Amino acid sequence: MRKKIVAGNWKMNLNFEEGQKLTSEIVNMLKDENVKDVTVVLNPPFVHLYPVKKLIGDTPNLFLGSQNCSDKTSGAYTGEISAAMLASFGANYVILGHSERREYFKESNELLTAKTKQALAHGLTPIFCCGEPLEIREAGTQEEYVKHQLTESLFGFSPEEMSKIVIAYEPIWAIGTGRTASSDQAQEMHAALRAHLAGKFGKDLADEISILYGGSCNPSNAKDLFSKADVDGGLIGGASLKSRDFVDIVKSF
Ligand code: 13P
Repeated sequence: MRKKIVAGNWKMNLNFEEGQKLTSEIVNMLKDENVKDVTVVLNPPFVHLYPVKKLIGDTPNLFLGSQNCSDKTSGAYTGEISAAMLASFGANYVILGHSERREYFKESNELLTAKTKQALAHGLTPIFCCGEPLEIREAGTQEEYVKHQLTESLFGFSPEEMSKIVIAYEPIWAIGTGRTASSDQAQEMHAALRAHLAGKFGKDLADEISILYGGSCNPSNAKDLFSKADVDGGLIGGASLKSRDFVDIVKSF
């Protein structure tokens, strides 16, 4: 049985106090409402990571993730944060290849292989993002486009390494736009990606990989999206900044 995961990506939002408040609210709701069987991940900006880890404490099924890590191990790389540093205080996940990093910070498929390697080497679970821009969706070539992203970045890994990676499909046209993919569109892409992974790594392994959907996911559409056979959870942006909305999404399975 593959894991059901809901991960919140705070992006570059919230000051220190706001981050503490949001985390405390989420921790309390998950405990009070006895939320079970879903892996929940908070991915705040770097400066929040350690204090958020402290607040998470031993809350069952609640984990800490970063929004990025360096492709380098250590050394003279001013401003970078290594996977080893993140692991050293108990981070568990790292989002890699978000379309915002691909677009604004020019992260290539090749660089993302190096980052994924770093994450795996230090025991972090990569949440590897992929997804097509609007013009590709309109041209109808989205499956080839997204499969290519996975092939280029991930197909050099061993089956054992691949089994530790979570995929997040985030169509760029659905991110922060309020225009979510329909649950059928999400299912179609997730099934295509799982088949693609099966072609390389075998069906048994592909069946164990969690594939999350991201892009304008909210408490009103999460149930429908998560009801689809190949949608194993969500990567949540805007709605992860509101404790009630985020926990309601977690409870949408
Ligand atoms: P929104 O949920 O705000 O559309 O963002 C999705 C996303 O990019 C999560 O990584």
